[in-house]
Amino acid sequence: MNVKKNMKTICRIRSISWVMIVLILLLFFIYCGNQAGKLNGNNGLERQDMVKERLKMVEVLRAYGISDARVLAAMEKVKRHVYIPLGYRWKSDPYGDHPCFIGYNQTISQPYIVAYMTEKIGLKPGEKVLEIGTGSGYQAAILAELGGQVFSVEIIEELAQHAREVLKEEGYGNVKVLTGNGYNGWPEYAPYDIVIVTCAPEKVPQNLVDQLKENGRMILPVGTNSQRLVILRKKNGKVKIEEDLSVTFVPMVQN
Ligand code: SAH
Repeated sequence: MNVKKNMKTICRIRSISWVMIVLILLLFFIYCGNQAGKLNGNNGLERQDMVKERLKMVEVLRAYGISDARVLAAMEKVKRHVYIPLGYRWKSDPYGDHPCFIGYNQTISQPYIVAYMTEKIGLKPGEKVLEIGTGSGYQAAILAELGGQVFSVEIIEELAQHAREVLKEEGYGNVKVLTGNGYNGWPEYAPYDIVIVTCAPEKVPQNLVDQLKENGRMILPVGTNSQRLVILRKKNGKVKIEEDLSVTFVPMVQN
């Protein structure tokens, strides 16, 4: 009788243990799935969060005076967070009103500056754009979203490679990234309708002016300690320069 009772108890303990093991495994898999989703930005909940964050960001841009509907739509659509390398992504509040670190002492510009430069340069679908300073690839994605054929040059190989991968994953086949020194431009695909520089040289690089089409326009920060956004237009072979906002960009390094 006692033996029977003992056997019953052992069986019960065994089945409870199995249920526990299955439960623990289940919880473990759910946790792993969640973490992977968080990291990739692909989890359903996470995605909803990011959509809301982007809407908030666009409201801030509107309040700052960005009014071009196409630019606002691109800012709402492009997933800024996926361009920030994983190690920096969740520490950085990717949709906040500030620049974010992307590693190698570099930053992705504040959303307002990205939107402002994009609006100012008035990109039309199909135009050829040379970007200097690919960084995370975010600005390139915004230009591509607006229908530009984007040629982007980045001096840091690791950043160029990261941007290539993300831009491909996000479906921007109309962006090419070159690892190289932006002072040389990208002569192979010149001339360009637009040149946009997202690092600051001390003065306007002549090679970039030379690679601009007739009726082309260029926007870039110029200066060392105190920088100004400069807008340059080429008309009848002549260059017209207009100074704009005062800004702070990382320097455009010589090599
Ligand atoms: N447009 C980027 C932000 C750029 S940060 C984005 O959307 O994320 C400025 C970038 O310019 C950095 O990645 C830096 O490495 C790059 N850079 C600096 N000097 C350069 C040069 N001479 N040629 C090409 N890239 C340069």
